[in-house]
Amino acid sequence: MLLIEARSFAERLPYHPHKLVLVFSAMRHFRDELREGGREVRYYQVETFEDGLTAYFEEYPHDDLTLMRPAGGGSERLQKLVADAGGHLNVVENDRFRCSQAQFDEWDADRDADGYRHEDFYRYMRRETGYLMDDGEPVGGEWNYDEDNRETPPAEWSPPEPPAFEPDETTREVGEWVTDRFDGGYDEAPYGGSWADPEPFRWPVTREQALDVLEDFCQNRLTDFGPYQDAMRRDAWAMSHSLLSTSLNLGLLHPSEVIERAIEAYERESAPLNSVEGFVRQVLGWREFMRHVYRREQDRLAGANQLDATEPLPDFFWTGETDMACLADVIDGVRRRGYSHHIERLMVLSNVATTFGVDPQVLNRWFHAAYVDAFHWVTTPNVVGMGTFASDVLSTKPYTATSNYVDRMSDYCGTCPYYKTKTTGENACPFNALYWDFLGRNEDRLRSNHRMGLVYSHWDDKDERERDAIRDRATAIRRAARKNEL
Ligand code: FAD
Repeated sequence: MLLIEARSFAERLPYHPHKLVLVFSAMRHFRDELREGGREVRYYQVETFEDGLTAYFEEYPHDDLTLMRPAGGGSERLQKLVADAGGHLNVVENDRFRCSQAQFDEWDADRDADGYRHEDFYRYMRRETGYLMDDGEPVGGEWNYDEDNRETPPAEWSPPEPPAFEPDETTREVGEWVTDRFDGGYDEAPYGGSWADPEPFRWPVTREQALDVLEDFCQNRLTDFGPYQDAMRRDAWAMSHSLLSTSLNLGLLHPSEVIERAIEAYERESAPLNSVEGFVRQVLGWREFMRHVYRREQDRLAGANQLDATEPLPDFFWTGETDMACLADVIDGVRRRGYSHHIERLMVLSNVATTFGVDPQVLNRWFHAAYVDAFHWVTTPNVVGMGTFASDVLSTKPYTATSNYVDRMSDYCGTCPYYKTKTTGENACPFNALYWDFLGRNEDRLRSNHRMGLVYSHWDDKDERERDAIRDRATAIRRAARKNEL
């Protein structure tokens, strides 16, 4: 087995230190497990893949290598590097997903609809796999229990402490090396590579640890996952989310075993259907869907910017320094541990960036650098396709909202110095003016969208004076953000 730690690859962006520790530590643990299992492993710690391949082929001239196709496709570059080094690279199907390339392409070929629609794909996958199906019909009679899954927890609710793993010697060694090697010196983060304030590293780096997280989730958190999956609470960064994305994306767990364990919790334990279906939808539906849409549409997504958004990323994305309570808390969490849950990524971070007018590709790079679970195949469709509506490949309308949404789904607004009910004037919640200003600025592109009809009818109700005040407030917010005074 050949494994290459190509270190310069890890300098392309100012990656969160926990992400670097996660990837390199998981790789070294995998190496050790393979060796313990009797495999012969060549492990090169070098600057580039070229260096690693050159060293390998000096030892094993003309060898044939086999690679599992990377999640986002694109193995041609590696094939060329191997050929240049004197070898040959066979590429085989990626087996870390439930839906194969051929299966997705067949699903797509059989439909008439334009664009990719998740709901159709998800139902297809339920039928194909038989997960939560009963005689060809969805268990419980419904495909979707979202109606039950938009609650916020009562004040006295507190979720169990999420699992964390004490770094072992390998992880500690990687941690020291990451601190040494990657501290500072990057172009894009205004504060250098040490922009994060990590808590102790907590993510699973072995299959055994990943299985513990799965078990903990199914036993202790799955019941509340459904109802509170869109809720945000200042004192509960993980809420009842599974925290399984890193393990799935690194291949420590297979989606089938994750889904099957959750279904077992429904069938044999007491997990409710709305939670289990909600979870299965994420793993069997969204995750697989995003992967294949990216595989097929990555060229379109790579430069997409259909709303012509050109603002630079405000510094608060890196520093968390803003008085907006929701943003400050979510970004603080990202700085600490390289994670926030889905609705925080979508309705707080992407929402503010989209209405602010941030260049979607710049935002995409920030997500890629900042999150422990970020890899191109999953970050790009989520940020460019879903979060910012930079492309209509997989969303039919932008996910933008006023402070109403954040207020309904979180406990942030109560302590925020900005007034959630004000749109204009000093101390009005920035989400409000930014939202209306966004609709005004993008009217030519969005008004004809039938799903935007209602919100444009509210825009039409505003007179010119009100619209001017909204524009002035949005301009003042952008100016304040540039001066780090938001
Ligand atoms: P849970 O809420 O417990 O969900 C269970 C699992 O479902 C996740 O572990 C994940 O594997 C899968 N899942 C759910 N939604 C999605 C989705 N939209 N796309 C892909 N998988 C999904 N996910 C990543 O894995 N890497 C990313 O870089 C990433 N970037 C995102 C950026 C934005 C702007 C948005 C809106 C979403 C992004 N997501 C990303 C999807 C989702 O937010 C994370 O998968 C999830 O928050 C991870 O936490 P969890 O494991 O506790 O998930």
